[in-house]
Amino acid sequence: MKSTINNYQEIREAVRALCSEFPNEYHRKIDEERGYPEEFVDALTQAGWMAAMIPEEYGGSGLGLTEASIIMEEVNRSGGNAGACHGQMYNMGTLLRHGSKAQKELYLPKIATGEWRLQTMGVTEPTTGTDTTKIKTTAVKKGDRYVINGQKVFISRVQHSDWMILLARTTPLAEVTKKSEGMSIFMVDLREAEKNGMVVRPIPNMVNHETNEIFFDNLEIPEENLIGEEGKGFKYILDGLNAERTLIAAECIGDGYWFMDRVTQYVKDRVVFGRPIGQNQGVQFPLADNFIEIEAANLMRFRACEMFDRGEKCGAEANMAKYLAAKASWEAANNCLQFHGGFGFANEYDIERKFRETRLYQVAPISTNLIFSYVAEHLLDLPRSF
Ligand SMILES: Cc1cc2nc3c(=O)[nH]c(=O)nc-3n(C[C@H](O)[C@H](O)[C@H](O)COP(=O)(O)OP(=O)(O)OC[C@H]3O[C@@H](n4cnc5c(N)ncnc54)[C@H](O)[C@@H]3O)c2cc1C
Repeated sequence: MKSTINNYQEIREAVRALCSEFPNEYHRKIDEERGYPEEFVDALTQAGWMAAMIPEEYGGSGLGLTEASIIMEEVNRSGGNAGACHGQMYNMGTLLRHGSKAQKELYLPKIATGEWRLQTMGVTEPTTGTDTTKIKTTAVKKGDRYVINGQKVFISRVQHSDWMILLARTTPLAEVTKKSEGMSIFMVDLREAEKNGMVVRPIPNMVNHETNEIFFDNLEIPEENLIGEEGKGFKYILDGLNAERTLIAAECIGDGYWFMDRVTQYVKDRVVFGRPIGQNQGVQFPLADNFIEIEAANLMRFRACEMFDRGEKCGAEANMAKYLAAKASWEAANNCLQFHGGFGFANEYDIERKFRETRLYQVAPISTNLIFSYVAEHLLDLPRSF
């Protein structure tokens, strides 16, 4: 398989070398045990990859979203799942862009060394779903503290993170002129919070993705944990969401190439009716279609990355990259499974694992229908549907 997009070779080769120490057997075992790839994430951290986007003055490499996306792509392309650790890449960006100097000096050097992990972002709520401005979790100022009450759902990596960025309402919806105002973001010390009013309940799920329900009952956090200005949190978090969508697009592209590598090799080797199954056009054409779609999604991913790195608005590009890449990887997954016949279902081929992993991205972190709504409203100028 020859991709026409072969940029950033130096980073790719270095990440590939690290990933090669954690072969598919490693990721399969972690999946079977419903474990966390602790050694793998530690190795990525110690090699400095998890601090790629942290400026050099705080101990990172000062790279952009483009390079970060290459790192995440290579993790998935090697057979791993960057979902175990991608949170830190977009969360640290929120802190970097909107945190005070004191906050950056406190958190970023420790994140860069791996002493602290900032893997968690708490936005989604059970009764609100995608309608984020209706969130019911509140943060009420009491002296020099904020008191948090409410509930979140599907909050990932809580058990493998030290800090969470939490979105909560600081002004009731009825009292704001624009519904996107009156929400704020906070740094929450997860281990302290568990002793003081935060309860975490894991949600076993289809993928080996550590995700949880969280309940807040009068959790008190210091006022200095507010990031940026009170009431502007939704705007701040949107930049982070664009970074998240673009990184996940890159991960889907990594998955897509992984499926293409596997299936093209297999259909060349597997002989049925006296010839390799890959000699049949009924097999070749769908695979060529999959490959073209991955390549096209890859171009949109780089466009989103480059715009983000230039500080330009990239909501449309990030959403479209995520849509195209998630679709391309899912369709490649489906054909990879199909053309492996029965063997695709055997755990030892890793295809069913990667198939489950890549399926998630049609729903999270934003579902396909919501991307269609975004494009219809913002690019086609159609009336807002909700
Ligand atoms: C494994 C996993 C990990 C996650 N990790 C995190 C995390 O770390 N932090 C976090 O905050 N969230 C996280 N999420 C939540 C995720 O972002 C949401 O599940 C996702 O945004 C969809 O929201 P919802 O589940 O509430 O779906 P809903 O909003 O209830 O929507 C359900 C479905 O209805 C359809 N739909 C909804 N509204 C419309 C509309 N207006 N028009 C057309 N169709 C519509 C869509 O098809 C959608 O898929 C995670 C989810 C999963 C499954």
